[in-house]
Amino acid sequence: MRKAVHSIFNVKEKLFLTPHYIRVKFGMTDEQLELFSNVQIGANNKIFFADNTRRTYTTRHIDFVEKELWIDFVAHGDNGPASAWANRAQPGGSLGIGMKEGRRPLFPEVDEYILIGDSTALPVISAMLEQLPAGTSAKVVLEVHGKEDELKLSSKARFDLQWVHNTHPEQNSNLVEVVRGMDLPDKKQFVFAAAEYHTVKNLKSYFRDELGWKSENYSIVSYWKRGESEDQSSAQRREERREEHQEESQV
Ligand SMILES: Cc1cc2nc3c(=O)[nH]c(=O)nc-3n(C[C@H](O)[C@H](O)[C@H](O)COP(=O)(O)OP(=O)(O)OC[C@H]3O[C@@H](n4cnc5c(N)ncnc54)[C@H](O)[C@@H]3O)c2cc1C
Repeated sequence: MRKAVHSIFNVKEKLFLTPHYIRVKFGMTDEQLELFSNVQIGANNKIFFADNTRRTYTTRHIDFVEKELWIDFVAHGDNGPASAWANRAQPGGSLGIGMKEGRRPLFPEVDEYILIGDSTALPVISAMLEQLPAGTSAKVVLEVHGKEDELKLSSKARFDLQWVHNTHPEQNSNLVEVVRGMDLPDKKQFVFAAAEYHTVKNLKSYFRDELGWKSENYSIVSYWKRGESEDQSSAQRREERREEHQEESQV
């Protein structure tokens, strides 16, 4: 079992990186830097609210020089505690953040990566791109609200980036159609995709059932579900992952 680390962090700075994307930079004390010294940047965390509600986010970055931990929040309104918290966050405010220790790489070693995500996956895919080694390449498809939400991403790897716009992610998404139109290079490659539940279901069925990809060549994960809070959808999303692993182990 990996050890969990947890602490209460104070907001140092809040930035609207785009109209629908908020970066909160939390200050870190020397004790917190020590406590979080063995976590993976780009891995998921849990954020905790006073009423015991928790939500899952991505540790976008830890800056050991500036003593900061960054979390990027999709600003999808005040309909969920996490998004509402980020909308109102101010320097001096605080939030509980927990992570599992361990530096498990975010991706396996292959020549070519295909990274697909909606706005909730922008933090993890940005972190992945920053960690990809020179000499590899990636095709990236990212869905954001509009042109004004496109961010500059950087990597040592060579990457092609396609932005997809969707002003109503809570209603639908055409990420799957875009992915179906992609040329998939005939090399050793790995797909990472994270998005809304229905999109993920269709992406999984495309790669696994239609294209016949083996599970070691993809990680396709549901990050949220339309019309349901994380508390409502997480048990179902976990159960589907469990069933998939069972099916694989029976093959
Ligand atoms: C491993 C992992 C890592 C994640 N990392 C990030 C991250 O770094 N940044 C990030 O922004 N999200 C991330 N998410 C997604 C985030 O956990 C969900 O979007 C979560 O539901 C947000 O909580 P909330 O309190 O704002 O809304 P909830 O209370 O969970 O939901 C309230 C309502 O808002 C809707 N909703 C939730 N998310 C969205 C959305 N993005 N767009 C439109 N409607 C939405 C729900 O369907 C529901 O109707 C991650 C999820 C996982 C599983």
